Amino acid sequence: MTLLQNKVAIVTGASRGIGRAIAIELAIQGAIAVVNYASSSTAAQAVVTEITDAGGEAIAIQADVSKGDQVDALVNVVIEKFRRVDILVNNAGITRDTLLLRLKPEDWQAVIDLNLTGVFLCTRAVSKIMLKQRSGRIINITSVAGQMGNPGQSNYSAAKAGVIGFTKSVAKELASRGITVNAVAPGFITTDMTSDLNNPEDILKYIPLGRFGQPEEVAGMVRFLAADPAATYITGQVFNVDGGMVMA
Ligand code: NAP
Repeated sequence: MTLLQNKVAIVTGASRGIGRAIAIELAIQGAIAVVNYASSSTAAQAVVTEITDAGGEAIAIQADVSKGDQVDALVNVVIEKFRRVDILVNNAGITRDTLLLRLKPEDWQAVIDLNLTGVFLCTRAVSKIMLKQRSGRIINITSVAGQMGNPGQSNYSAAKAGVIGFTKSVAKELASRGITVNAVAPGFITTDMTSDLNNPEDILKYIPLGRFGQPEEVAGMVRFLAADPAATYITGQVFNVDGGMVMA
């Protein structure tokens, strides 16, 4: 019996980066991984193949999770195929970085629509099922930017801080039904999202462990929060995986 045997896990934005590592880790632990993506179908299929080649189970499902109808369609496919959802990882996210005075309303809105509204839409759709099951784990990927701010990321920081408030409120709403809701706040992790930073040396000064993190190091925290009994008694919390950047 593996740690997450027979669990069904939806990971949004799992074609690349942190989401990809989470989907693979949950599948290694025995979960059926639903690999959501927006446009990278070849990459998403490669994640599925990597999981199935290793003896696991996974499917790729395209959906723009900032759109309510697409979120509902995604969850309907999962229910038709697997009859349940045990784990939701709200990971899909984008950046549209620029300083406040140059920030266009459409770039503000695009980041809020996916990074915050997308978390709401997926959580609402999946929690209907989890409430009937009287069990579930919801894990939201936020960011140190939502805790400490970051110049050029007012849209992103606002969305990620919103995710933290959302996590705590929903954790209180769903606790009595056996559903836990937690957030993971990565620092700087090596993915496509951080590949074009023009000042990596400046950032390293603020990371006590002196290096960027790897997607697998975030996936390890998500595995912990999905597991029984390790995380059964934990809800409404934010866990930093940031090399020591934020010390509360
Ligand atoms: P990434 O490498 O850019 O990957 C983003 C993923 O999100 C891709 O799988 C992408 O799918 C998907 N996606 C984009 N728009 C979507 C949409 N509308 N609907 C569904 N999926 C969508 O990003 P990452 O670095 O792994 O970041 C993952 C999460 O961690 C994000 O929430 C990010 O804010 C957070 N985070 C990252 C860091 C970091 O340093 N990397 C730090 C803190 C927090 P396609 O491939 O189809 O585009």
